[in-house]
Amino acid sequence: MFNRISKHPILLASLLGFSINLTTSTGVNAEQIATHHGADGYVNPYAEKRKTRFFKALWSWLFTDEWKDYDPENDHVPLAEPILAPEASSNATVTWVGHSTVLIQHQGVNVLTDPMFSDRASPFSFAGPRRFTEPALAISELPEIHAVVISHDHYDHLDTRSIKTLGNKPLYFVPLGLKSWFIAKGIASDRVIEMDWWNERQIELDGTALTITATPSQHFSGRGLTNRDETLWAAWSIAWNDFQVWFAGDTGYNEVQFKEIGKKLGKVDLAIIPIGAYEPAAMMATVHVDPGEAIQIHQDIGAKASMAIHWGTFVLSAEGVMTPLKALERAREAAGISEMEFATFAIGETRHYQAR
Ligand code: ZN
Ligand code: ZN
Repeated sequence: MFNRISKHPILLASLLGFSINLTTSTGVNAEQIATHHGADGYVNPYAEKRKTRFFKALWSWLFTDEWKDYDPENDHVPLAEPILAPEASSNATVTWVGHSTVLIQHQGVNVLTDPMFSDRASPFSFAGPRRFTEPALAISELPEIHAVVISHDHYDHLDTRSIKTLGNKPLYFVPLGLKSWFIAKGIASDRVIEMDWWNERQIELDGTALTITATPSQHFSGRGLTNRDETLWAAWSIAWNDFQVWFAGDTGYNEVQFKEIGKKLGKVDLAIIPIGAYEPAAMMATVHVDPGEAIQIHQDIGAKASMAIHWGTFVLSAEGVMTPLKALERAREAAGISEMEFATFAIGETRHYQAR
């Protein structure tokens, strides 16, 4: 049993921190003035209270075998060879490197989300969740990266080795409280832009104008036992003059924030939305969406197209490796949404999205 617990960092973190839900749900309801700046760290203003179900969830996790439900004969996380953007392309080129790492190339600017190229999502090189699927590209195979957006500090999203290797070349956009981490890793202060939700920054990269906006998400943060929720989590809009991407990072669902994001951002051409790490729901639902909720976010935002991430790469939760893919297929069918509209990329797959 301990082996199973130790393999699952979110469960382990929950046990040590007592419960994800106890600390992320502060009972603030929508009628009150919703703020994410709590007295004791950051909070989710619209998260539902779920604490009574924690022990039931823990029980079901410890005694379920679904998490290892992977038949190597018949189940395969789909893989593809990346085809990076040609020099001049009027459309945006999008490649899923794996997990939440996506390379977006448009107008000669290359943006990377949550770069994670290491073998383990853990503070240790010898323990913690190991990659189930290799990254489609090595860092050395990437084109010049102009900008990186970071959603939060969990090990599967903020990887020390990846950031150190990318070094001072990209401009890093990070949620509140994370700049000092980058400086401690040797990144120059002027390469890191720290932003609160709804802060917006206009920049010019290699002669191309971009607007980067931090938007809300519903999650939590912490890399150790003592720094829980001390740094903010965020989703990001990356907007060229004719193409806007919204990257969700890790998030749970609520009925307020994604509608608000859709309203404020206007046209979102591509939303990048997680579909994995949602079981057991009683424990995860506050902080990770399931595929049905991922579709709800796609609709709330009013995205023209979406792509699924955060599955098939690290096994972080209780659902089977292939389960999110199958569940998304069913949810798409129920909502009458095509695969073109909410895409399930193979790891390494490159697709082109039309600019306006
Ligand atoms: Zn996370
Ligand atoms: Zn994650």
